Amino acid sequence: MLHEVLSKEACAECRFCCSFRRQSLWEVPDIPLELMKKYPVDASGKQISYLIQENNGEKFAVTDLRNSYQTEDPEEEAACPFLDSKKGCTLPEEEKPFDCKIWPLRYMRMEDGTEAVCLTPTCPEINQVPPEKMKRLVEDGMGEKIRDYAREHPGMIKEYKEGFPVLQEISGK
Ligand code: SF4
Repeated sequence: MLHEVLSKEACAECRFCCSFRRQSLWEVPDIPLELMKKYPVDASGKQISYLIQENNGEKFAVTDLRNSYQTEDPEEEAACPFLDSKKGCTLPEEEKPFDCKIWPLRYMRMEDGTEAVCLTPTCPEINQVPPEKMKRLVEDGMGEKIRDYAREHPGMIKEYKEGFPVLQEISGK
């Protein structure tokens, strides 16, 4: 969805958003339960471990990476089981989790209960895009698409985290 500012090539080379430190496990993408059932194993045939979670009344799955770390180093990253180190994401585009499609945007609930489209501040590629350009992109319709998805899938709404710039405040239900 963000091809206007993020080239496929840049993402394919980087893959920052497909590997997670322990402290970033909350960023592991939400996966619809049907998709979890469709993919019990990864592209190499290895069993994928999932956790069922519930947020805002919606149940979904996340891949369970907690046992994937080899060291105690907090900087160690564990890769999403759908990531192929050479080819990138092995899921077809239409099955990619919505969280991945909109990365590095996040739909968040602010402390006062309002909602907003925010930007993950750590994406190395987006950090090279002028903030005004990102804001324009979101205000020109992308924010509404994300809001509409969040209305149907409230599990994706994350609690606001300090340091995430707000690109669009969402008013009304
Ligand atoms: S599902 Fe695909 S795009 Fe999303 S984190 Fe995993 S490998 Fe990356």
